[in-house]
Parts: sequence; structure tokens; C-alpha cells
Amino acid sequence: MSVKVRFAPSPTGLLHVGNIRAALINWLFARKQGGEFLLRLDDTDPERSRPEFAGAIQEDLSWLGLNWDDLARQSDRLERYDAAAERLKADGRLYACYETAEELELKRKIQLARKLPPVYDREGLKLSEEKRALYEKESRRPHWRFKLETPARIEWQDGIRGPVGIDLVSLSDPVLVREDGSYLYTLPSVVDDVDFAISHVIRGEDHVTNSAVQVQIFEALGAQAPNFAHFALLTGAEGGGLSKRDGALSIRDLREKEGIEAMAILSLLARLGTSLPVEPFSALAPLINSFDLSAFTRASAKFDPAELRSLNAKILHGLDFADVKERLGIDDMDEGLWNAIRPNLERLQDAKAWHDVVKGPIDPVIEDRTFINEANGLFPNNKVTDETWSVWTKTVKEETGRKGRELFLPLRLALTGLDHGPEMKALLPLIGAERAKARLRGERA
Ligand code: GLU
Repeated sequence: MSVKVRFAPSPTGLLHVGNIRAALINWLFARKQGGEFLLRLDDTDPERSRPEFAGAIQEDLSWLGLNWDDLARQSDRLERYDAAAERLKADGRLYACYETAEELELKRKIQLARKLPPVYDREGLKLSEEKRALYEKESRRPHWRFKLETPARIEWQDGIRGPVGIDLVSLSDPVLVREDGSYLYTLPSVVDDVDFAISHVIRGEDHVTNSAVQVQIFEALGAQAPNFAHFALLTGAEGGGLSKRDGALSIRDLREKEGIEAMAILSLLARLGTSLPVEPFSALAPLINSFDLSAFTRASAKFDPAELRSLNAKILHGLDFADVKERLGIDDMDEGLWNAIRPNLERLQDAKAWHDVVKGPIDPVIEDRTFINEANGLFPNNKVTDETWSVWTKTVKEETGRKGRELFLPLRLALTGLDHGPEMKALLPLIGAERAKARLRGERA
């Protein structure tokens, strides 16, 4: 069987960590199996779908390196859904219902008050011709429900959850078509999965019931349901669904505002909720090789923005100058400077600030003038090298009796204007003798 999966976001907003995890799991599965990955834009809701979000989705996936083999837009395929709907109507599986939202709500309340499950009573199926004609005369427009075959137990071997069985008794017949003729997600998704020969539907466990319903729709359309796998969803720090408060920002914000590397997001999301360890990866290939659907656990996993930031830092610390040169866009940045500041970066954009500390001008911070004057007097005259810092501070220590923080911190403050930063041993040769001495004199340099 040839493997083909799809990632099917609705272009009603920006992609966030949760969506991207679905994209990534599908993508890794496809790449590992030598299969295909389809990007499908579920844009049948004309009110909420926006072309700019469709564009942003493609931009984010491209930035992450999750390339797609094929792209489909549901809005281009309405004729296919119409044909499927007609077939279901002809077979008595799709029926018109005229209740308004208020009427449905009232029915629900009555059922609940009688301690009955709030399941749709199929009044649409029992409607007399007169009543139907009356509604049509009132210009009521019907919505359309799929008639579930009940009772039924839908079973499948889930790629993550193992054997799954869902009873279709307490479910209402799902609405497939709205009053305005637009389609909800349920039918178009099945039609597309058939037309694009999707072999595996891999999505969140919030879709398990949908899958059971859709199995009947696949069958009603004379098709076979694909393989299913449902992964547990990520939670926020409090254990609930992911929200902005948990730092589950859009991918765009993670990239543009937070300075998170694509590989940090991918490294975390590929392993979160699996039995494999979360590790910093700088390329997708090892993630593809180690991908295993059965490593996903049934328990939900916590998304922790601090873990993402820490992976980001680890990945940055391993990047070579050649990997970042273009993106840095700092003309006089070179390999030596990059190597010196790299271990201190949490975000790539912080490189500019460290570059400026080295190249100046900065305002030295000098609290003890006498001590700094003395240290300046002891500054070696020969060329500044990797050895200079230890040679110089050793002499200053011997001459002044200072040691530890007392010795090092005032020198760092004078030379960089800051109380923290990359190793002085590596910074000093980059700052250079002339600038270092000027700073020790208290000059802005
Ligand atoms: N558009 C649906 C969603 O975002 C797709 C679900 C699916 O993968 O079938 O929830």
C-alpha cells in the first residue's frame, strides 16, 4: 500500500504549536515511509477562512522545512462534495431538517430535564410532505444531517491507541450541510481522503468520535476507511488545553518575536508525548530516522515554553558561523566573534548586542577608579591573544591581592559595561588592545 497522509488546517488563524505538531507527525510519518504528504486547506467556511491565513500556513510550513508534495483547497472542490451529498441523499443517508437553532436548543433542554440523552430525535426524517411544503413556503432553508446506522459499534486498530471501539448510539446524526449550503468539515474531509487516496489519517484524539462517524460516511460512499491514528493532545502548564497563557504562541510569533529556531520547535514537538527523549536536533534527517508512531504514548504531554527556549539555546550553541552568517546580516561579524558569543545566546538576535559589546562603542562601568588604573598599568604590551586575559589577571591578582569576583567583575564591567557575558578570555582578543585600554581609561569606545 502506498502511504499518503495529509495535514488539514483550516485557514482561520495562524498555526500554533498544537497544529504544527499534527503537521510534523504526519510529515515525519510520510518521509519515514517514503510516502506522500498532502497539504489540504479546509476552507469550506467562507465566513472564517481568509487567504492571508492560507498564505501564512504555507509560509510557516516552509520555514520549518515541512515541504508538501501536493496542495488542495477544499473551496476548489465543492462540486465533488455536491456529488457526494447527492449520492447520500439519493440513498436516504442525508436528510433535510428544518429546525432553527432555538428550536434545537429547546428540544435539548427538554430531553435533559427528562434525564434523556440530548440526541437529535430525527424529526427531519419523519416530516410529512405538508409540513415540509409549509416550511419551504415560509422560506425556511434546511440543514442536512447524515443518518447514522445505529446501533453500531465502530472498531479499528488505531496506530497509537491500539484497538478502539466506539458505540454510535448516543450520537446525534451529524449535520453535514448548513442552511446556507456550505459544508461542515465532516463530509469534505471524507470525500478528499477518498479522492486523494489517503492511506493514514493521523490526528488528535479530539477527533476519535469524528473518525467513528466518518467510517460510516466512507462506507456510505462505497469507500474503505483509511487507517487511523489519534495522538493525545498537548496540555498547558495547568494540565488544560493549550492556550496563549501557556506560551503556546503562533509559530509566526515564536519565529519573529521570540527568536525561536525552526529546529527547536521541531525537536520538541517530534518527541513530546513519546517514549523517546527530547533532544536538540539541528536537522530533520535524524528525526525522520528515529520516528516511530508506536512511540507515542496515550497520556497527554505538557508543553513547556521554558523547555522550548532551552532547546533553542542548545541548538544555537552548536551552530557554525556558516549556518548563521546570512541570517545574522551583521557585516563585520566573523567566525571568531561568533564562536566567542555563541555559548551565551538564547536567541540568535541577541548576537547583535554581544557584537556591539565587542566592537563598541560602549560606556565602561568603573566603580573603583584606583583599581582599574592599576590594572590598566599592568595591561600587557604585546599582542592580545587567548592567553592575555589569564596572564594579565594573574599579574593584577599578585599586585593588588584581589581575587575571585573582586578581581574579575570590575575588569569585566570596565571592558564590557556589563556584569555578565561570554568568557573574557575569548572576548578580550576580539575587543583588542587599543579599545580595551581606552575602556580601562573610562572612555566610550
Ligand atoms: N480541519 C480539521 C481540523 O483542523 C482537520 C482534521 C483532520 O485532520 O481530519 O481539525
